[in-house]
Amino acid sequence: LVALPAHAREVRLVAEGTRYETSLYVIRGERAGPVVLVVGGIHGDEEAGYLAARRVTEYTVDSGTLLVLPEANRLAIAASRRATPGGGDLNREFPMAPGRRTRSALARHIWDLVEQFEVEWLLDLHEGFDFYLNPDTDSVGQTIIYYPTSPRTRRLAEIALDRLNRDIDEPGRRFSLLQFPVSGSLARAAGQRGVHAYIFETSARQPRATRIRQQLLFVHTFLEELDLLR
Ligand SMILES: [Zn+2]
Repeated sequence: LVALPAHAREVRLVAEGTRYETSLYVIRGERAGPVVLVVGGIHGDEEAGYLAARRVTEYTVDSGTLLVLPEANRLAIAASRRATPGGGDLNREFPMAPGRRTRSALARHIWDLVEQFEVEWLLDLHEGFDFYLNPDTDSVGQTIIYYPTSPRTRRLAEIALDRLNRDIDEPGRRFSLLQFPVSGSLARAAGQRGVHAYIFETSARQPRATRIRQQLLFVHTFLEELDLLR
């Protein structure tokens, strides 16, 4: 008897041979299921997103396909900066409308993944500098920003919102649900393509361990609801 591995996993290089080169983890379950893409590090100064995404690369799934791009913008992460050194804000460089082009080489490589793998669910992990419910700032920290692809898109966001807020005693630190990721963002472009697409934002004013725990709870909620994890 030849024992087949319970789970298949491989690592591919995105933007191979360029200065943007970064790893994509392809983790497949034994049974058919949805294709979910988890992205961290589009902005290099939002550490909880890429630190959580790195942990997700170690997951195995029962069904479907889990794609993880933990360090989407490695140059920005290395510089601890929002924008690509020598370039712009990667999350404004995705197609502004269906059929439009990406505005940078790195955005094109990432957008190719969405198309080639026929991604159905996108979880893009970010951080804000403050709390959305703090009236003194315009930060989107502690929000789930979804593209209204279908009623199910919102329903899963509400489930995640409930789970996140259950643990938060201070009302001003609770998560809020917003619609329409900003134009030019990966989530906006994916949503316009029919993907269930989300930007998740923790607040950098919380301890790092709290932020990573919230990021992982967000990802877990989707992987469980979509039956990738039992
Ligand atoms: Zn961001």
